Amino acid sequence: MNQYHKGQTIQKRCVSCFNDRMKIIKVREHHLNEKSIYVLYTQCPECRADAIKLAPEDLQVS
Ligand SMILES: [Zn+2]
Repeated sequence: MNQYHKGQTIQKRCVSCFNDRMKIIKVREHHLNEKSIYVLYTQCPECRADAIKLAPEDLQVS
């Protein structure tokens, strides 16, 4: 089950303006062995900087 979706806001530090919330603009799922890895394309809502985050399926949100 894909726990990430477009439009979702995740906790991630923007390297440009240090805002700590990034919005997901695209999700790509990759299958590696038996696991899924998600590539999250994110954009800072403050300064519009793009960033990519790799997220395993069982990522624990801290
Ligand atoms: Zn930013």
